[in-house]
Amino acid sequence: MGLRIDLHTHTRRYSSCSRTDPEAVVPAAVKAGLDGLVITEHFRQWTQDELAALLQSADAPGFLLLSGFEYTSTCGDILIYGLSDENAAQLERDLPPAEVLAYVRRHGGACIAAHPTREGMGFDERILTLPFAAIEVCSTRLQPHERALAMKISEATKVPPVACSDAHAVEEIGRFATTFTVPVRNISDLRDALLRGRFHI
Ligand SMILES: [Zn+2]
Ligand SMILES: [Zn+2]
Repeated sequence: MGLRIDLHTHTRRYSSCSRTDPEAVVPAAVKAGLDGLVITEHFRQWTQDELAALLQSADAPGFLLLSGFEYTSTCGDILIYGLSDENAAQLERDLPPAEVLAYVRRHGGACIAAHPTREGMGFDERILTLPFAAIEVCSTRLQPHERALAMKISEATKVPPVACSDAHAVEEIGRFATTFTVPVRNISDLRDALLRGRFHI
């Protein structure tokens, strides 16, 4: 039981590195057996109106479509959930991870360490003390040994693990997902569930 949600996906609308046609996202997610999906473009959060328009064109009653964004800090990438569009847009670029986490916390959001052990794109030893809500331990962008190391960090820090697709192509959507054990109806519910650890992989 629980809600299967892919927390980390990109589309070509705002991520130049992605090939995914936004219109294909929801049908692919439904086909993959997901209950929900979060679009997390690089440095850009889809607005409620954009999400509503995409969902309307998809004809997928009950499907949960949300948005957060992915922030590249001076040392590691951070997935951010639950900020208002205004607060998301006002977050300065090129900040160190601790400052990003402090900003997000101040404005009521939750952070996940994205592919923390990815070669050349990971965090340094500071990840052991940064107050993340969760650590991504599985994605299409993590090699098996990088997944194992991320899992060890999760175990050592007691920061719970999540699995996400980090899909940049439509066929990757839902390749990995995280199961939530409480109702998630909107981004506030998701933020609360992340901060309270109500999920498992
Ligand atoms: Zn990308
Ligand atoms: Zn990503």
